[in-house]
Amino acid sequence: MADELRPCPFCGGEAEFETYGGTACAVTCRKCRCGTPTVRLDDGERAVEAWNRRAERTWHDFSDELPPAGVSVLCRGKNGALYVGKPVTFKGNGTRKVWVPRGDQYRTPENWMEVST
Ligand SMILES: [Zn+2]
Repeated sequence: MADELRPCPFCGGEAEFETYGGTACAVTCRKCRCGTPTVRLDDGERAVEAWNRRAERTWHDFSDELPPAGVSVLCRGKNGALYVGKPVTFKGNGTRKVWVPRGDQYRTPENWMEVST
């Protein structure tokens, strides 16, 4: 692999290119074990590109900068919990939260990040 792997976008850990049985591969983080989907070894460059594209994304402060309306974003809570939700602004008091389909609840994240579609 000619391309260099960027650090993990979630924990800053070192990334590694892993192969499985000589036919499949993925890029994973050594520390938190997050990673790209597994692809055919022939498509290894794609895994590296996908990883690096994700690593370019950065966390935004929810209090400073709000995610675009109606778009699902990856959120990070106070305790480091990660979840996906959609930003909502409540009419009336203008409170901003993120609606999280899993658990059917509103939450206020510390940070958010765009996710690939
Ligand atoms: Zn990581």
